[in-house]
Amino acid sequence: MMKRTNKILFFIFCLFFLVNIANAESLKSLKDQLAKDEANQAALVKKQRDIQNKIKSAQNEIGNLETDIENYENEIDELLKQIDELEEDIEKKQKEIDALLSFLQVSNGDNIYLEYVFEAKSFTDFIYRSAVVEELTEYNDNLIDEMYNMIEEDKKLQSELKDKIAKSESSIKELDKKLKNYNVSLSDLEDAHSDIAAEIKSRKKTIEYYESIYKANNCKEDVELVSCLSTSNANNFVRPLTKGTITSEWGYRVCPVHGREIHSGIDIGVAMNTPVYASAPGTVSGITTKSSCGGNIVTINHIIKGKQYRSVYMHLASINVKIGQVVDITTVIGKSGGGGYTLRRNGGWDTCSTGAHLHFTIREGWSGRNSVNPRNFVNFPAKGKSFNSRF
Ligand SMILES: [Zn+2]
Repeated sequence: MMKRTNKILFFIFCLFFLVNIANAESLKSLKDQLAKDEANQAALVKKQRDIQNKIKSAQNEIGNLETDIENYENEIDELLKQIDELEEDIEKKQKEIDALLSFLQVSNGDNIYLEYVFEAKSFTDFIYRSAVVEELTEYNDNLIDEMYNMIEEDKKLQSELKDKIAKSESSIKELDKKLKNYNVSLSDLEDAHSDIAAEIKSRKKTIEYYESIYKANNCKEDVELVSCLSTSNANNFVRPLTKGTITSEWGYRVCPVHGREIHSGIDIGVAMNTPVYASAPGTVSGITTKSSCGGNIVTINHIIKGKQYRSVYMHLASINVKIGQVVDITTVIGKSGGGGYTLRRNGGWDTCSTGAHLHFTIREGWSGRNSVNPRNFVNFPAKGKSFNSRF
């Protein structure tokens, strides 16, 4: 009888196994993923367009608000002019009133009364004159009141316009903030878009690569990659890294450590601990750890177009596969070393390296040491040049 905890562990193990099977890749699943990526790309493009439209309409809105502000400012100028004119008129009227009032005072003064009477042709004339003066004064008073009212009205309008300007300015500020956010999300979307575009490009190449193998091996699309590939025959090797720079060629050279020798592989400069992939489908046939020349080394046996080959990966910082393991080009066999702590002078084990790189060899046959130029199989850029994909 299984213990309860063992039962649970067994159940979890089965579940894990099932999930793994469900996740196993086939040519069909790669194509499905490509379709998903393309749908995501289309959605991103739509989002980008939406944001671009939002940016355009915010910019238009800001333009309109700026025109509004200009109009309000013109109106305020108009009002200020009007207020000036009214104030001038009031001053004029005030002077007239003052003149009339002083005339009235003069005519009402006790001492001057006689003088006025003397001047007036009659008392009736005097009464008439004062009546006219009073009427005029009242009229002017009313006029001034009206003008003061108008000034008040203008000032009210002016402050309303100032409020409108303040409101427009704060709307512009808000729109500017929105624009900033739109631009940030637009550049995020552009990044995501170029990421997904790169993903799609490399996925298409991967599918192309597998399609020819599936065809050659007569596999149905929903057969797992591993089972289709392990049965035989890949048609070529691909780059063992997603990025790197060719630093040294295969062939005779003067080695910085050993003098003149055949350099059995091609050296690819790459940062420490970068994933290293199997260069073609095959079976892991050799693992060496902490060799004094080459450090951690993985060897894989392949059949390429019906012929036996081995690929060798040297100076690895760590190894991720086991002897006999069936691998394909998506298998990370280890991580790159050749520099840093893997060097003997830094307390590591590798005396045959001076800096971080992968040494990649292709040998003919599953035994013997006959190396061939990897460039005959893998599309590497020229020496000193970098690459950014597996193909
Ligand atoms: Zn090398």
